[in-house]
Amino acid sequence: TFISFEGPDGAGKTSALHAITAALQPILGDRLAVTREPGGNAISESIRAIILDRANTAMDYRTEALLYAAARRQHLAETILPALAADQLVLCDRYVDSSVAYQGAGRQIGEQAVAQMNQFATDGLLPNLTIYFDVPAEVGLQRIQAHRDPQQVDRLDVEKTAFHDRVRAAYLRLQAANPQRIKLIDATQTPDQVVAAALTLIKQTASG
Ligand code: C5P
Ligand code: MG
Repeated sequence: TFISFEGPDGAGKTSALHAITAALQPILGDRLAVTREPGGNAISESIRAIILDRANTAMDYRTEALLYAAARRQHLAETILPALAADQLVLCDRYVDSSVAYQGAGRQIGEQAVAQMNQFATDGLLPNLTIYFDVPAEVGLQRIQAHRDPQQVDRLDVEKTAFHDRVRAAYLRLQAANPQRIKLIDATQTPDQVVAAALTLIKQTASG
């Protein structure tokens, strides 16, 4: 069973995934595989280094999208497919929906084009379940800023907010278009509530 975790910045996805892992590890042991792109393989790490290295300079947005897709392909081939073949429960922090939301809508190179490119990269392999942690852009960005610098909470960057508004809107469109695969969790709830909701969805999917 393949489950991906998605959400805009500051949704609490990463901390929720830590808590979910802690809850499932004792039950599943080595039948649980938790991973995130680029997934620690040499090729994807090299690709990721290029993306991060060029992030603040003039990397073309389509180049960025292609590199994400290439890193994703390698992570799929080296990590996800072998884990699924070994019948593990695979929890993956971000997958194709991140590219549709961030590159397609955030960078505005086109959700359809990015989805098609990722269809090629993944040979159409989609998760059985995608848990989408939904949070309004301002809330997410405020959480991040509060985390980094409590003095700066009131100085929200308008451009950043617009970018993250587009990212969230794309996630909501993806969810509405794929209600069977993508389940939304209101990530403005308390961390405990978010984790409990996610565990319920995971158990339903893994047992079904
Ligand atoms: O998952 P995490 O919060 O660590 O993501 C880190 C950042 O990587 C995101 O906030 C986003 O800016 C960027 N990202 C991206 N495109 C993707 C995946 C992540 O721009 N496909
Ligand atoms: Mg994170």
